[in-house]
Amino acid sequence: MLIVDIEKCIGCGICEKVCPFGAIIVPADTKKAKVLENCTLCGTCVNACPYGALTIERKTISKEQLSQYTGVFIWGEWEKRENVPHIKNVVLELLGKGRELADRLNEELTVVLAGYKVKELIPTLFHHGADKVILAEHELLGAYTTDGYATVISSIIAAKKPSIVLYGATPNGRDLAPRIAARLGLGLTADCTGLDIDEENQLVQTRPAFGGNIMASILSPYTRPQMSTVRPNVFKKPKEDQTREGETEIFEVTLKRSSIRTKILEEIHVLDEVVNIEEADKLVSVGRGIESKENIKIAQELAEAMGATLSGSRALVDIGWLPHARQVGQSGKTVSPNLYLAFGISGAVQHLVGMKSSDVIIAVNNDPEAPIFKVANLSVIGDVLKIIPELTKLIKEHNQKKESE
Ligand SMILES: Cc1cc2nc3c(=O)[nH]c(=O)nc-3n(C[C@H](O)[C@H](O)[C@H](O)COP(=O)(O)OP(=O)(O)OC[C@H]3O[C@@H](n4cnc5c(N)ncnc54)[C@H](O)[C@@H]3O)c2cc1C
Ligand code: SF4
Ligand code: SF4
Repeated sequence: MLIVDIEKCIGCGICEKVCPFGAIIVPADTKKAKVLENCTLCGTCVNACPYGALTIERKTISKEQLSQYTGVFIWGEWEKRENVPHIKNVVLELLGKGRELADRLNEELTVVLAGYKVKELIPTLFHHGADKVILAEHELLGAYTTDGYATVISSIIAAKKPSIVLYGATPNGRDLAPRIAARLGLGLTADCTGLDIDEENQLVQTRPAFGGNIMASILSPYTRPQMSTVRPNVFKKPKEDQTREGETEIFEVTLKRSSIRTKILEEIHVLDEVVNIEEADKLVSVGRGIESKENIKIAQELAEAMGATLSGSRALVDIGWLPHARQVGQSGKTVSPNLYLAFGISGAVQHLVGMKSSDVIIAVNNDPEAPIFKVANLSVIGDVLKIIPELTKLIKEHNQKKESE
């Protein structure tokens, strides 16, 4: 329940202004905040009260109460590309996994789409598996702000009571999900690599723990919804079905500028490292077996000949031979290309967790016991410094032949 500390409340009325549900008032006679029955415990006023007069007391809830929470929700993050809104790839990937979870639970799969002028994104969400879209449009949601999005998404979650909420572990997702968890007093499992349903219909959230040496299965038995973030490329995007349709529900947003503490003055897209290994179809990835910074050029040459992107292990990033934007793995990017070529990479668990969902993995290593061979479709035992230039030569010859045909 929402508790007003009468001693601390000075009757400033800020809580009344920011509440999206009109669930708290400050009567003129008492000048003390009063909570009404329709309070959803969304937490917006608690954050806004400058005098610390509001707290939410949350009790762990019983099994019967847990069962009142139904449905799988996904935060429908979008971004502007050349001024046009696009749904982020990770949302489509989560729709694939979310569909699986919702079917196991026999519940609905819903995308919460908050933004401004984003209606045109709805059909894509249905085509990728959503049953329903909750559309929350407001001018103040035109660009991501922590306060604006946390207020609206918390309000929707508090009002709709889903059993599961999934977020992409993007920079904004990593910002938003913990805020919502804190506001609603929920748990949150970050960077899950697996999601499943157990025999008691609980969400089993798997993620690497203790530096990636063990995979932990995490449950949230006492609170609902169960919330997780998942990095891009962990799950496969489902096949698009353009005949699928769904239901759209409009959520009336009563966002006030006063509840957003940041003001976006300008959006600047940083282009210093125009590389996105997460989206690449083919990756030529190098590890410490490349032996010197100079030798990275030979791998770059191969990547160019193949139309692939260069990436690498953390070992090379740590010694400054590659920028962090090109690092594959637990503390780098998770990738899922059609083809992953691993040259001189041992295959530490922290590396594997970031690339093992690639369609085809070819590994070259001079150690027949290298762990990378356990996940490789094709294992080549040999010296990368001999194999890479030879391969580049063959591919260039092949390219020339194709051009002259
Ligand atoms: C918390 C934490 C997070 C981490 N995050 C990441 C991460 O995101 N990404 C990541 O990659 N690592 C990460 N690591 C580091 C990881 O544990 C390994 O240390 C790292 O992946 C090793 O990189 P490597 O395979 O390039 O080097 P090495 O382990 O040194 O392997 C080099 C390999 O090259 C082979 N080789 C050597 N010479 C040749 C040659 N001439 N021809 C063919 N093969 C050759 C060797 O046999 C060996 O297998 C993390 C570690 C921790 C603790
Ligand atoms: S914002 Fe805080 S101090 Fe102001 S009226 Fe509400 S509870 Fe009282
Ligand atoms: S917790 Fe949310 S719904 Fe309840 S009074 Fe505060 S802002 Fe309104």
